[in-house]
Amino acid sequence: MRDLISKGFDHDGVSIKVRRCSFVCDAPARAFISGTKYHTGKNSCSRCTVVGENAITPKEMRLQVRPKGRIVYPSTTCALRTDESFRERFDPEHHNSYSCLEELEIDMVLDLPLDPMHVVDEGACHKYFVTILFDSDYKISPYHVKRVNENMSLVSPYSPCEVARKTRPFTAKMKCTEWRQIRLYTGPVVLINHLSPDRYAHFLTFHVATKILSSPRFYRKYINYAKELLLTFVRNGVILYGNTFCVYNIHNLIHIANDCENFGPMQSFSAYPFENHLGVIKRLSRKSEKPLQQVVKRLAELDHTQKIYNVSETEGFVFKFEHNDGPVLKKLNGDEKQYRQVNFKNFVLCATKRDNCAAKGDNCELLEGNLVVIIENFIEIGSKQFIIGRAFESLTNLYPEPFYSPGLDIYKCENLSGTLQQWPIEKVLFKVYLMPIPNFSSFCSLSIRRHVANLNKLATVKLTKV
Ligand SMILES: [Zn+2]
Repeated sequence: MRDLISKGFDHDGVSIKVRRCSFVCDAPARAFISGTKYHTGKNSCSRCTVVGENAITPKEMRLQVRPKGRIVYPSTTCALRTDESFRERFDPEHHNSYSCLEELEIDMVLDLPLDPMHVVDEGACHKYFVTILFDSDYKISPYHVKRVNENMSLVSPYSPCEVARKTRPFTAKMKCTEWRQIRLYTGPVVLINHLSPDRYAHFLTFHVATKILSSPRFYRKYINYAKELLLTFVRNGVILYGNTFCVYNIHNLIHIANDCENFGPMQSFSAYPFENHLGVIKRLSRKSEKPLQQVVKRLAELDHTQKIYNVSETEGFVFKFEHNDGPVLKKLNGDEKQYRQVNFKNFVLCATKRDNCAAKGDNCELLEGNLVVIIENFIEIGSKQFIIGRAFESLTNLYPEPFYSPGLDIYKCENLSGTLQQWPIEKVLFKVYLMPIPNFSSFCSLSIRRHVANLNKLATVKLTKV
């Protein structure tokens, strides 16, 4: 590792330098490789010098039972650790042992980022929903729990193909991707009218802050705002849900924006790609004998074959599934081609319920502003391609004050137009996660994937038709 950082390495005759090295791992692994206290210790925060304290829940106090033995970190104003304070052992209680990573020229504090998958999704989001739905001291009424779960089932058919799992009623054991989907997309919708205004505003601080930090488009612009929101979320969490709310993962929310400053939006330093790849690696091993050798050989084969087949990848978009069923705006003369689906580089649009709402025009000459469109057909006329659909006539703020949802491309959509219209496909900026708002005759739209290609260049891309 030391050689890699100082000398770099050669790949296909090209010398590659390694400038910055970071270690993405969960809390126990990070404590193990850095030789520090584990996440249940009182001096375990890797970013600040907060000292944890034992906390007892009201239920444990009431029943006079033995506390579960949790450590909480309610203070949010402690001094931050630095590489120097780490190496000089300013806080000896933080360290368990010497770490061999200290021999490397890395920042022992900042180059071990807090992994958003474990800290935010599996940690903080899970803790929040377990508190409001299952904790007997702070949960909402059984009536509202039932309604929230019904809302989860209601929005389930609207889960687009890009999300890993469809929404389902809450349980304490959900997958990280489900918690991620709830905090970014479905949470604000399914909780509407089922939390008190204070509690709903508290959840929105978490949702808006993590939405900003997950967005490549917004995180730089609003990072200080997100940092303030997360600090407010942690402080108000102690007021609303008691000291026991502020466990290790909730406390770490106040530090995660600093990692975004160093490494970019949350997904760029999360453990999702590594955890996803574990399944791939596991499937490469077919029998118990010599597993490592099997995996290395299969990976070498894959590397070789991908070099051959990746050549045909396209940067633009690809139409799929030609048909003649319409709808169309005017009578066709036979030269047109209609399609059911279009694949962009990082999302799919098609005329089905969960993937149809999708397109949004922005700064568009024809559309004069932003539009959220429900697509019904794709058509190619000569060398031009169009989407055919209906637009919502009213796009307004979804959240109560002080949050302004259109600033994050989130809208309350009403009054779907009765008239079919068509727009050039190059005006599509991103796919929209559209779901009904329970008990309202309106929809909520959230941008899910943005079109990565430059829109001006897009028009000149040679299309590949299937
Ligand atoms: Zn801390």
